[in-house]
Amino acid sequence: MIFSCSVDDGHPADMRLAQYLARHGVNATFYLPINNVEGWPVLQGAQMRELAQGFEIGSHTHDHCFLNRLDDQQARFQIQQGKRALEQILGRGVTGFCYPGGKYRPVHLQMVRAAGFHYARTTRNLHLDPGPGRFELATSCQFYAHGRAVYLRNFLRGGHWMRRAPLLLDGLRRRQWQGRLHAMLDQALARGGVFHLWLHSIDIEQMAAWDALDGFLRHVAGAVSPAQRWTNAQLAAHYFSD
Ligand SMILES: [Zn+2]
Repeated sequence: MIFSCSVDDGHPADMRLAQYLARHGVNATFYLPINNVEGWPVLQGAQMRELAQGFEIGSHTHDHCFLNRLDDQQARFQIQQGKRALEQILGRGVTGFCYPGGKYRPVHLQMVRAAGFHYARTTRNLHLDPGPGRFELATSCQFYAHGRAVYLRNFLRGGHWMRRAPLLLDGLRRRQWQGRLHAMLDQALARGGVFHLWLHSIDIEQMAAWDALDGFLRHVAGAVSPAQRWTNAQLAAHYFSD
């Protein structure tokens, strides 16, 4: 089984999260906007560069705008400018993109490709496979206290039902959200494939779930060999080479 981890939004609590990941030797990709129109604080340039020393950095548009709410010109600007600004801050290329809010239309896949990104990630969940395409990488689950109803709703909306049913069923069997995530990881370990965790550090902060996260990462580190802990750039290159 391959394990990957995505962290979205570039909240300053990402620096604390990075310490937890590093402690367990778990790889991750951080998707950073330059600003956040929703008003959340974002990492400073120096912090972004520090993160980039240990982790893959991807773009999350310039201002964390949901692309489906923008016209084509605004969407193109957000995609291109987010990449340019981040590359300027980091002094290196950025090849990964993540759609804010998981919202996009088919035209945005083309825009992301045309901007020079190699892959893009969505918020589709319950996948144990890398996703339907290079510009639509999927996830397995979010590190969040979702209720069962949320998983059911996501499942019904997300399609690919045969592929996604095993994780759903395993998740629904557990009453407690942390237990659900551990059960999903065990399911992935038993079946093989890709387990892609995603989270927001601000959620961990607000749920006071740092210990729960620490326990989950310990579970990962104990069960997944270091060679199988990949960044999303590695995932995309391996499964969608063209
Ligand atoms: Zn986001």
